[in-house]
Amino acid sequence: MRKNIIAGNWKMNTTLPEGLALAKGLNEALKGKTLKCDVVIGVPFTHLASIAAAIDTDRIGVAAQNCANNGKGAFTGEVSAAMVASAGATYVIIGHSERRSYYHENDEILKEKVNLALANGLTPIFCIGEALEEREAGKHFEVVDLQVEGALFDLSAGDFGKLVIAYEPVWAIGTGKTATAEQAQEIHAHIRSTLANKYGQTAADNCPILYGGSMNAENAKALVAKPDVDGGLIGGASLSVEKFLPIVEAF
Ligand code: PEP
Repeated sequence: MRKNIIAGNWKMNTTLPEGLALAKGLNEALKGKTLKCDVVIGVPFTHLASIAAAIDTDRIGVAAQNCANNGKGAFTGEVSAAMVASAGATYVIIGHSERRSYYHENDEILKEKVNLALANGLTPIFCIGEALEEREAGKHFEVVDLQVEGALFDLSAGDFGKLVIAYEPVWAIGTGKTATAEQAQEIHAHIRSTLANKYGQTAADNCPILYGGSMNAENAKALVAKPDVDGGLIGGASLSVEKFLPIVEAF
């Protein structure tokens, strides 16, 4: 059976002391609890090693929010998949809509990042999702299919089996607008059928598909109750233990 996962994406928030305090607070809050999902926090590069050393990483997985599309070398300012793995990350968020739009990451670049992440033993949390105009034009199914096909469909079946996908409609990220549980279920089921057409039903059934976009303590239960919604990628509400914990407990 596929995993349920609640993953935080802190984005470019928290200084190192603030991030350490947040991670330790979450670690404390989860102690002794029986969880029905895996918990992951996506933290800034600068925080990875300190946070991985300060928390119980069997309880909380640590994710980088990006990695370079090259293995090593003269790429000033870039951080490689091997580097984040060596700092204690076990996951990496790849293809977030902010990276696609502000840093022009296209399918080719994302494909390279996914391959490097997998080669370095990281679990990619691969983000897809349509813009508002695309949803309004009824193109959302087509958009997510192209994103999945463009970056993932050269993977071997073995590598495909290591992926997590996050469906994040761009119009719901940081806007306070959430897809309804029904909208999320509809497109998650569609994504799973696209995956099944390529990799077979069993592989598609084993792939966790997370929802992201203004998920919070109020809407999390209805979203994760849907059969094809296997958890969430949480931005704003992952920045405080009080807001994140009820989402973790929504299962
Ligand atoms: C995100 O950035 O992945 C996200 C879902 O953000 P928010 O929860 O703030 O909408």
